[in-house]
Amino acid sequence: MRIDVGVATDIGRIREGNEDSYLIEPPLYAVADGMGGARGGEVASHLALDTIEELHRAHKGTLAEQVRHANRIVFERSNSDRAVAGMGTTLTAAIVDGDAAHLVHVGDSRGYLLRAGSMRQLTEDHTLVNRMLRAGEISPEEAQHHPHRNVLTRVVGTDPEVAVDEDAVGLLDGDRLLLCSDGLTDMLTEDQIQAILESTPEPQDTADRLVRAANRAGGVDNITALVIDASGADGASAASGGWRSRSRRISWIRRAVAAAVLVAAASVGVRVFLDAQWYVGVADGRVAIFRGIPAQLFGFELSSPLVLTEIDAAEATAHPFYADLADGFTADDRADAERRVEEIRTTLAQASTDGAGGTGEAMPNAGTGGGG
Ligand code: MN
Repeated sequence: MRIDVGVATDIGRIREGNEDSYLIEPPLYAVADGMGGARGGEVASHLALDTIEELHRAHKGTLAEQVRHANRIVFERSNSDRAVAGMGTTLTAAIVDGDAAHLVHVGDSRGYLLRAGSMRQLTEDHTLVNRMLRAGEISPEEAQHHPHRNVLTRVVGTDPEVAVDEDAVGLLDGDRLLLCSDGLTDMLTEDQIQAILESTPEPQDTADRLVRAANRAGGVDNITALVIDASGADGASAASGGWRSRSRRISWIRRAVAAAVLVAAASVGVRVFLDAQWYVGVADGRVAIFRGIPAQLFGFELSSPLVLTEIDAAEATAHPFYADLADGFTADDRADAERRVEEIRTTLAQASTDGAGGTGEAMPNAGTGGGG
């Protein structure tokens, strides 16, 4: 896979300093948006990215472990230097490894994937507004203009530990990844961002155009856009041949299974999700993560539980959000399934403490996926 990169960062039209930082250390790419104090934000975003760059060069740990280490470094500096007390930073990073990109994420910077004319957000904003949106308390329109839309629920460097989201996407020829700070996404709609991504072939031109457009739209915050183009999947090295043929076979089997399920579904009218490879459902009276399709075919289950959580299924399905959990809640991938489990856990914890006046804010960093 050939990778081409472009990046642009700008102070914007209102702020007095640029607290955004980016890192290009192939195959590692990252964006960080710092906050706190006169110098704090700038120090936090640079310190976090310098730390993961150093660990990456020394081949120390996974990317998620590197981010957790960066969290401790920023936290310790914040506690020992009064000039930067309370500083923190978002961090969204990707490592491109052969035909896949591994993403880690904390905060409200974003990762997007543009593929074959459609764009999807790969990261989930760790903001209060996004939490309210997911809980159905506000509409997407209200979220877009909410006065507190920049209140973060997770930050690198403000606590001794941080939960780091992880995700992986397979890359195809022509894929384009965008890592960006909220100074871009607060100024431009996703349609506007997608239009620029689609109409600008060269990655550096694309990053420059995105920043210019955000400035034209007001530029109220620092703006950073990092564009990563993947091309030439067919020219990949022979070393990855074994993996590639295996993944092709899996996708062939998956298609055959999907076709069989479609036939079965048409005949018996079962509810199926053909594109689901991961979902959250119920097994042995508990909430579980499944791989497969939540359906049966001629008596055979097309999935099996992979992770059995400690969450009581009866308690979950008693909550109106999760009444249909036994049918299976589909997920994009394993990390997404783990996020859904975490969301169920959080929602149930909040529901049980609401009466007692608890806020649920002081959740332990149970971590989704973590490991390593
Ligand atoms: Mn920002």
